[in-house]
Amino acid sequence: MRIDIVTLFPELFDALQYGVISRAIKNNIIEINYWNPRQFANNEHGYIDDKPYGGGPGMVMCYEPLYKTIEAIKHKTTFTNCKIICLSPQGKTFDHNVATASTTLDQLIIVCGRYEGIDQRFIDHCVDETWSIGNFVLSGGEFAACCIIDTIARLLPGTLGNPESLTSESFTNDQYDYPTYTRPAEIHGHKVPEVLLNGNHAEITAWRNQHRNHKDD
Ligand code: SAM
Repeated sequence: MRIDIVTLFPELFDALQYGVISRAIKNNIIEINYWNPRQFANNEHGYIDDKPYGGGPGMVMCYEPLYKTIEAIKHKTTFTNCKIICLSPQGKTFDHNVATASTTLDQLIIVCGRYEGIDQRFIDHCVDETWSIGNFVLSGGEFAACCIIDTIARLLPGTLGNPESLTSESFTNDQYDYPTYTRPAEIHGHKVPEVLLNGNHAEITAWRNQHRNHKDD
């Protein structure tokens, strides 16, 4: 899957250079490209934001540099199975189902907002959907985009060393993962459930299904 990220701060995506996702990049399961809308600013200073019409605090990202960035991406790539996403706290909640549905895409374009947000005309006319990662406000879309890319990438065939990791995982089959333990078998008087030590796989599976975790809230 090709991922194009529209961001003022590509450095914030350094987190993707580690662990499972870095392997997905090295193995060409995902390819990530960065686009800075400042390159498409219509002024020599690279300003891409302006004061909001009607007054109010903060600055708003302008339509034109974002529009030109999307046009440049479209000019360079020719995928038809592509989705353009804008990140917003007001967007559709990104969850396991949205992530799974997205694994069939050939290209995902993610627009990261900053400041007070993005000119509504860009959101209304230049993107397919807006996504939120939760009911809170971040300073920008970059960390949200990292979460989204990490989530989708690990669902793609070949990313995880053992694809079985996905089958028992939380949200797969609408259930939560089971409790996990590792050595030692006893610590500070806390013992690992006996059934997990007996090697009987049928009993272990039954125990795990009975003891699946529940959400804390
Ligand atoms: N004024 C906006 C509001 O109250 O809804 C908040 C803007 S926020 C400071 C700047 C940018 O961060 C947004 O344009 C969006 O791209 C990103 N962002 C903030 N919270 C987010 C969330 N929960 N999910 C996804 N993106 C988010």
